[in-house]
Amino acid sequence: MNGEHKITGGHRARTALVYLRQSTLMQVREHTESTLRQYALADTAVALGWAPRDVEVIDRDLGLSGTSAAHRAGFRELMSRVCLGEVGAVFGLEISRLGRSNADLARLAEMARLTGTLLIDSDGVYDLADFNDWLVLGLKSTMSQAELHIMAGRLQAAKRAAAERGELRAPLPVGLVYDADGLVVIDPDAEVQAAVADIFACFLAAGSAYGVVAAFAGRKFPQRAYGGVWAGQLRWAPLTHHRVLQVLKNPAYAGAYVHGRHVTRTTVDADGNVRTVTAEVPRAQWPILIKDHHPGYITWEEYLAIEARLAANHTGGGGRPVREGTALCQGIIICGGCGGPMAANYHGDDRASYECHSHRDGKKTPGCRSITAHAVDGAVAAALLKALTPEQVALALAAADEVTGQHQRAGRAAELAAERARYEADRAERAFSAVEPENRLVARTLEARWEAKLAALADAEQALQAAQAARPPLPDRASLARLAADLPALWHAPTTTARDRKRLLRTLIADVTLLPEADRAKARIGIRWHTGAADQIVIGRPKPTGIPAPTPTPATQLIRELGPVTSNADLLAILTQRGYRTGADRPFDIKAIQWVRHAYQITSPPACRETEISVAQAARQLGCSPGVVYYWIETGQLAARRSDGRLCIPWTAATQADCRTRITSSGHLNPAARRTTPRQRH
Ligand SMILES: [Zn+2]
Repeated sequence: MNGEHKITGGHRARTALVYLRQSTLMQVREHTESTLRQYALADTAVALGWAPRDVEVIDRDLGLSGTSAAHRAGFRELMSRVCLGEVGAVFGLEISRLGRSNADLARLAEMARLTGTLLIDSDGVYDLADFNDWLVLGLKSTMSQAELHIMAGRLQAAKRAAAERGELRAPLPVGLVYDADGLVVIDPDAEVQAAVADIFACFLAAGSAYGVVAAFAGRKFPQRAYGGVWAGQLRWAPLTHHRVLQVLKNPAYAGAYVHGRHVTRTTVDADGNVRTVTAEVPRAQWPILIKDHHPGYITWEEYLAIEARLAANHTGGGGRPVREGTALCQGIIICGGCGGPMAANYHGDDRASYECHSHRDGKKTPGCRSITAHAVDGAVAAALLKALTPEQVALALAAADEVTGQHQRAGRAAELAAERARYEADRAERAFSAVEPENRLVARTLEARWEAKLAALADAEQALQAAQAARPPLPDRASLARLAADLPALWHAPTTTARDRKRLLRTLIADVTLLPEADRAKARIGIRWHTGAADQIVIGRPKPTGIPAPTPTPATQLIRELGPVTSNADLLAILTQRGYRTGADRPFDIKAIQWVRHAYQITSPPACRETEISVAQAARQLGCSPGVVYYWIETGQLAARRSDGRLCIPWTAATQADCRTRITSSGHLNPAARRTTPRQRH
């Protein structure tokens, strides 16, 4: 071997490491010769004078791509052992390609130079302490890098040229297949077709990917396996949200050919490890997009509509999808003062209000307002019902047809599944009848398979029956048309959910704005229609619910007369006893009485009697914080009684003296005392 004389007894006394690498599993499988040659390096080491027990093979990196050392445990092991100085020589098929990256090899060469380790390949022995060897290895490494670059460049250019013609074949999503001529066609399997088409139909009806998952409950979705032993086979699995998004976002279903929808980016994390991540490329930046490349399940326009819909559902990106809850304008109402979105807030008994939250960001303007939801909703709903034209009613009827279609599709899917199960059972039966009865082992297996298929068929037929039974009776078109003619009734029907109303509202109205209005008793509402038209409505602001609007005067009169000298609790007892109710026809409660006091400016009686004082007064007299007084009351050190929610402390000279003693003796309350006392003792 070239340079064999460089190997000394010192090298032979240390370990000889044979490092094996092969980039991909396919290379390992196909290029067995190369792998064998690599293992043969161990014999070379023995031939060069190493004892067989000192020769070790590191082959953990077989099948791992060599572009970086980050994930190659074998290369790391090699490096660490060279660093420890226990290695006499490293054997590789081609040392200049050991690391695949110049940086890896440079590190190895530097460590080998410092520890006096030889690098040996089929070309000869490199002693890195020798300047010539070091230079030759460096040149070879640079050349191999350049070679890789040129090869990769050529491959990329060829790929790109094929992609520009729409001829670069990529794995197709389920529902599309290559035909015998290599053209993309819709999967001939009717069951697969139906499943894919139903995803788009369900999304149209439900409006969200989660809605599609719900519609597929109990039904499976096909997936085609790529590579491995399952290549090309169909697997049926429950539909997940992630799968739905994959299907909805895949432009192949719209008949488009796209290359470069994903990019891999290399990042370096804090530990210095290099990672590659795959990211989606925005549609505007797709390098190659060929529309009408093959037949699709949807049109390109539908694809764009789905994309917009998904973006609107994505709240993280600023979308405000339809939510549960009764507030009709939720998500589309804007504050006219600051231009920000208004939030729908629900209070105790499902009474909602629209509130501008710009004060949280310090953007509140004098025009920012809040308003109860039902006032706005009533006006907007009235405007909507007035604006609904016969054409829009026709649209609604088309939507009803869509629902019918969906039920039929669900039934069709079950029929197709049953048909497939029947076919498979028939095939299993034929296979069983074809086998010679003497061949008992095979016959037994085939019989078991036939039985399994028959069981699957029974399941599928049962599912079909269930699907047919579950198909809810739909009202016929005539009665739907009658119903549509009386839209207000449909709108207010208890069967129409808040969500449905919101969806209907959003099909016609783009947004609602609470415009600034000088008169505080009124609210000005701007409605912007999707057609581009805009309307303004002025409504009276509802008064706060607590004030008896058409005041039942006897109750108010009573509160006015007794209020200044009677506590709220006593007033409540009297009002309840006489059976009075509030303006909103609710029984009186403390809150309602407080409202009346507030509205008519009726003073409350002093909570405490003459012999009592409040917590604040006590704290002021004692020169301590109210918290201390509360603490004494809570811990029972100080007597107090509650009157109308306020604490009253019976106050005598003795009580006051007690409190003062407590303060002076407490080190916590009187740090001065704590500091001075020990000194006085001396
Ligand atoms: Zn505002």
